[in-house]
Amino acid sequence: MDTKKTIHLEKKYIMHTYSRPDFVIDHGKGCYVYDKKGKKYIDLVSGVATCILGHGNREFASVVKKQIEKITNPSNLYYSEQQVLLAEKLVKLSKLDKCFFSNSGTESAEAAIKLARKHTKKPGIISAKHGFHGRTFGALSATWKEKIRQPFKPLLSNFKHVDYGNAGAVEKAIDKNTGAVIVEPIQGEAGIIVPPNGYLKQLREICNKHNILLIVDEVQTGCGRTGKFFAYEHEKIKPDIVMLAKGLANGIPIGATIAKEEIASSFKRGDHGSTFGGNTVACAAANFTIDYIIKNKLIDNAEKQGNYFMKKIKSLNSNNVKEIRGKGLMVGIGIKANAKEIVKKCNENGLLINSPEEKVLRLLPPLIINKDIIDGAIKILKGVL
Ligand code: PLP
Repeated sequence: MDTKKTIHLEKKYIMHTYSRPDFVIDHGKGCYVYDKKGKKYIDLVSGVATCILGHGNREFASVVKKQIEKITNPSNLYYSEQQVLLAEKLVKLSKLDKCFFSNSGTESAEAAIKLARKHTKKPGIISAKHGFHGRTFGALSATWKEKIRQPFKPLLSNFKHVDYGNAGAVEKAIDKNTGAVIVEPIQGEAGIIVPPNGYLKQLREICNKHNILLIVDEVQTGCGRTGKFFAYEHEKIKPDIVMLAKGLANGIPIGATIAKEEIASSFKRGDHGSTFGGNTVACAAANFTIDYIIKNKLIDNAEKQGNYFMKKIKSLNSNNVKEIRGKGLMVGIGIKANAKEIVKKCNENGLLINSPEEKVLRLLPPLIINKDIIDGAIKILKGVL
């Protein structure tokens, strides 16, 4: 099908919740994608941080294919080897105790919110201004942006939003109904907002002091992107509940909610469930992805290439750049111009880049990126900026 027809059918048959550029991505290889007309792009979006091993990895494809040929979803009514292997890996990496599997970031938030409420018997949750946790009702209640909340009110009550990066504001907001705090280690959708050093550590201490749960949303920061498998490891803390999704299965839908034993045990049979959650294909994909990340030292690569990328952006000395921020391969560029225009120009010049906010460019490349590809991206950015 040609580009024109795809765009026509999208307008006709797909609900218009996204605005898309006028090309159709057809396939990818490593850190590059190709559109239907054969044009090549450097991909700094990677399916919004999902395709962390890059595109077209043959080993990955072979593992997923083999699993599909064996069985796709025996369902949660039965034991699954791939599921328990994945749970064991995530428990070892997080140093927590038990997992619940779902299919997306927002579902990992729903499980976390339900688990926190069941365990603490308190409905109050404190989240951060500018925070993003998903779009289902529980997750949307924790999400801050009024534009996406407003049309769906009333949301869950008992959610309070306080300034991000200010642990004191969280402590001030705690009342007798507060059961948990939910926080991103770096705010992704807000435009890569990095909190002050020690923020998570302070939140951990406050939660301990007031006997409330700390839920860390690693949906965007997790799986090695910031230079640690979990971004909370930078502050050497142990959350009570952790959420993962996006990169966990290299683009195959999956969500995971991981918790300490005493909290996890509050979920009894029937308390929560998911037909597709933890299906064998997603779990096999995630098992491969984690092993590949570790075997190929992609977490170290994320740190190294992220530092190189930020250094190169700084060296552009562009009048258009206000601020460069981030950790590892989660980079935000605060710009003076309209980001939409810049994204469009980048696309025209063969670069996929995304803008979560009006004056912010966001870089979330695959963790396999190298200096040559970064240099290529910088060359395009330089011309456009
Ligand atoms: N939490 C964070 C931090 C996210 O960045 C996102 C998505 O961008 C979500 C939750 C929701 O994930 P999903 O879109 O998979 O539901």
